[in-house]
Amino acid sequence: MTEQITAQACVIGGGPAGLVFALALAAEGRDVIVVEKSEDFDRSFRGESILPDSVWLLDQLELLQPLRDQKVLEAHGLEISENGQPLLRVDFRQFDQPQPFPMEIPQPMLLRVIADAASRHPGFRILRPAKAVGLLRDGGRVTGVRCRTPQGELEITSPITIGADGRYSKIRDMAGIEHQKTPLERDVLWFKMPYPQAWEPNRYRIRINQDRHAVFLPTHPDMVRVGFNIPKGGLKDLRAAGIGALYTRMDELAPELGALVRENITSWSDTMMLDIFTTVVPQWSIPGLVLAGDAAHTLSPILGHGVNHAIMDALVLARLVDQALAGPDTAAALDRAATRFQLVREDKVRQARDLQLRQEKIFTLSSPLTTLTRRSLYRMINALPPVKQRVLGRAYFTIPQVADPVAEQLQDVGA
Ligand SMILES: Cc1cc2nc3c(=O)[nH]c(=O)nc-3n(C[C@H](O)[C@H](O)[C@H](O)COP(=O)(O)OP(=O)(O)OC[C@H]3O[C@@H](n4cnc5c(N)ncnc54)[C@H](O)[C@@H]3O)c2cc1C
Repeated sequence: MTEQITAQACVIGGGPAGLVFALALAAEGRDVIVVEKSEDFDRSFRGESILPDSVWLLDQLELLQPLRDQKVLEAHGLEISENGQPLLRVDFRQFDQPQPFPMEIPQPMLLRVIADAASRHPGFRILRPAKAVGLLRDGGRVTGVRCRTPQGELEITSPITIGADGRYSKIRDMAGIEHQKTPLERDVLWFKMPYPQAWEPNRYRIRINQDRHAVFLPTHPDMVRVGFNIPKGGLKDLRAAGIGALYTRMDELAPELGALVRENITSWSDTMMLDIFTTVVPQWSIPGLVLAGDAAHTLSPILGHGVNHAIMDALVLARLVDQALAGPDTAAALDRAATRFQLVREDKVRQARDLQLRQEKIFTLSSPLTTLTRRSLYRMINALPPVKQRVLGRAYFTIPQVADPVAEQLQDVGA
C-alpha cells in the first residue's frame, strides 16, 4: 500500500532554494517536508561563489558562523586583465556595506549547514533519497506529490507544493508550466587545482584574450576554481584535440600557471562542462504549486547570482506562505501569495539576467576596435572611484543589507 504523509508545505529539491525555504518556514513553527532525490549533498563546482548580500542573509539566519567555523574563504578583491595588462582592480573593503565581501562556500558545506539548522525545528523533515515522480491533483488544483523511494512509493499531500528542483525542473514540466530556454553563445569548462603560491590570496581574477576569457576563483581549501569559456557545444571538438588543447588555452590566459595546470589536470575527466542557458518562466505558479530558484529562473553563472536569488526567493516565499497559512480560506490565500511572490521577485531576477547578458556580450568582443573600446571602458571605470562603486555595486550588492530585507522587498512593489 502507498504510504501517505501530510505537511503544510511540500518542497521538491534540497538545493539552496528548497532548504532555505524549509528552514524559514519551519522556524515559524510550520510543518514542512523536503523531498530530495540525492542521498547526500555532495556536488562539486556548483554554487560556490556567494555574493555579499547572500553572506549577509546567511548571517541573519545565523548560518554564517557555523560556515566560518569550517573555514570558508572570503574574497577581498577582484582584478580584470587583458593580455597581461591590468585593467580594473576592485577592493571590496571600499564598499560601505555591513558585509562587503563575497565568499567561496562549497555547496555541500552550505547545504549541510542549512539542513542542520532546519533540523533543530520540530516541523522540518527531509526525505532522501526520494524522487518526485508525479503531482497529485484535485480538480484544477495541485494537492501534493507522488514520490519514489528505495522503500517504495509514497504520497505527500500538502496545501502548497514548491518546485525547487533546479535548472532542469521536472516539476515545471509535470505542472505544464511553460518556459523559454535561451542558450548563451558559449559554455564553460570548470576545473580545480591548488592555488598558485605566487598569487596574492583571496582575489578573484578574470583574464581576457580577445573573445576568450577565464575566471580564477580562490576556493576552500587552498584551491583555485577555474572556469573558461568554450564555443557552445564545442566540448567534443576540444576533447578530440586532446588535453593539450586545454593547456594551450590556459597558456594564452595565464601563462604563469602552465606547470600547475599540466601537473593537476591530466585528463578531461578532471574537468566539468556547464551548459549555459537562461530560462524565463512567464508564470511561476498554478493553483497549489509554485516554482522557486533555478526552476523559476535559471541564470548564467556570470557574477554568481544563482544562489543569491535562490536564497532571496526562499525567504520571500516562506514569509508569504506563512502569512497565507495563518488566515482563513488557505487555498485562495496561498494562490494569492504565489502570485505576489512572482511580482516581488521577478524584476530583481530580470535585472540580474540583463546585467549578466551585458557582461557576457562584453567578454565576447573580438575585433581590434571593440576590444580597444572594452579596455578603455574598464580603464575608465578603474580611474573613477564613484563610477567603480556604482558599476560594481550593481553587480555585487543587489539586496539592501538591512535587518529585514524581505519586508523591504515586499514594500518595494507595494505588495
Ligand atoms: C557548474 C555550476 C557552477 C555554478 N556556480 C555558481 C556560483 O559560483 N555562484 C552562484 O551563485 N551560482 C552558481 N551556480 C548556480 C547555482 O548552483 C544555482 O543557481 C543554485 O544552486 C540554484 O539553487 P536551487 O535550489 O534553485 O536549485 P539546485 O541547487 O539545482 O537544487 C535542486 C535540487 O533538486 C533536486 N531534485 C531535482 N529533481 C528532483 C526530483 N524529481 N525529486 C527530488 N529532488 C529533485 C536536485 O537533486 C537538487 O538537489 C552554478 C551552477 C553550476 C551548474
